[in-house]
Amino acid sequence: MEQKRSIEDVEFVGKSALVRVDFNVPFGSEGNITDDARIRASLSTINHILDEGGKVILMSHLGRPKGKQVERLSLRPVASRLSRLLRQEVVMAPDCIGEEVRSMVDDLHQAGVMLLENLRFHPGEEANDPEFAEQLAQLGDVYVDDAFATAHRSHASVIGVPEYLTPAVAGFLMRKEINYFIKALETPFRPLAVILGGAKVSDKTLAIKKLVEKVDRILLGGGMAYTFLRALGYDVGKSLVEGDMIDLARDVMEKARERKVPIYLPVDAIAAEKRHETAVTSVVTIQEFPENMMGLDIGPATNILFREALADAKTIVWNGPMGVFELSPFNRGTFSMIDTLAHSNALTIVGGGDTDTAVHTTGKSDMIDYISTGGGAFLKLLEMGELPGINALQDK
Ligand code: AMP
Repeated sequence: MEQKRSIEDVEFVGKSALVRVDFNVPFGSEGNITDDARIRASLSTINHILDEGGKVILMSHLGRPKGKQVERLSLRPVASRLSRLLRQEVVMAPDCIGEEVRSMVDDLHQAGVMLLENLRFHPGEEANDPEFAEQLAQLGDVYVDDAFATAHRSHASVIGVPEYLTPAVAGFLMRKEINYFIKALETPFRPLAVILGGAKVSDKTLAIKKLVEKVDRILLGGGMAYTFLRALGYDVGKSLVEGDMIDLARDVMEKARERKVPIYLPVDAIAAEKRHETAVTSVVTIQEFPENMMGLDIGPATNILFREALADAKTIVWNGPMGVFELSPFNRGTFSMIDTLAHSNALTIVGGGDTDTAVHTTGKSDMIDYISTGGGAFLKLLEMGELPGINALQDK
């Protein structure tokens, strides 16, 4: 992976760079961008191309319009924010392909920046339709992929375009993500601890299986921990349990035991009868879980247990919140974990859409060594050791 060509290996003078970015930012109820970290993350790549004398054509998806034009999923507000961050005009294209867009690209002046409209307004993006990919490819002389967060998806803008457009190289963000991944999981300082949380076990099981081969300890929180607790025979009331994942959870624990990799599970929980901001909560132990309640955050004893389990770690990787942190009665486990990482001497790497939002909410982003922009991509990379979007780039 580290052998891929990057934007430092190509010339941009007089060229048009077609750059896949991840501008899939969260919006508030008023249509305002609530976190622009993903836009900021692409600035160094954009500035490099401009400084080297090229023009920049940006492409991204936003949300899930399912192949149709959906006004509230237009990237227009992103163009305004980007323009403010770059302190220069960003031309917003009415579409991502077509005659009009092509002539707008031709007319764009040197050192100009254009943002194409949401790629997923066309079904060809997710279907990786070759004709759609070819039309996108016609907009640039160089393809740059800076969207690590979508590199696990075999979509047109990720793997289709580089079939028609070379050079195909990694942007700075993509390169940084790959390097941190290698540092954390291929050549880590040990002990290496991995913390996993979030709602579902199903999207993380294969990754956990792989992790057992690489890490020194695993901490499980969030909703997914209940499937593991169930597999150990605990009754966990109405907590989230994925029945069809129980056997897999058991396999993972068996494998971990063989390899002497401890798996830390919650010993208590903040539980409630409903998942609601105003819910009445109780601290319950896992041994005596009330049958009418669900665990929505890790409890205080688990916070201490997890903190101790991380005390001597030299590398910590975290993906997925410890509880339903979006609701204030259930945010303490996640916020306490952020605090632990922020004050740790280990190399700390956090990934996953929800986890990075939680970190930004606490204002402690600067105290974490690296916040990855990819959650799903990070887990897939872990599972497979490669990603389609990275494979599609040219080797040095
Ligand atoms: P994921 O996308 O799988 O990383 O899951 C993130 C979501 O998991 C967040 O929106 C949390 O609200 C949710 N979550 C975390 N802990 C729990 C829990 N104990 N029960 C249900 N949902 C949870």
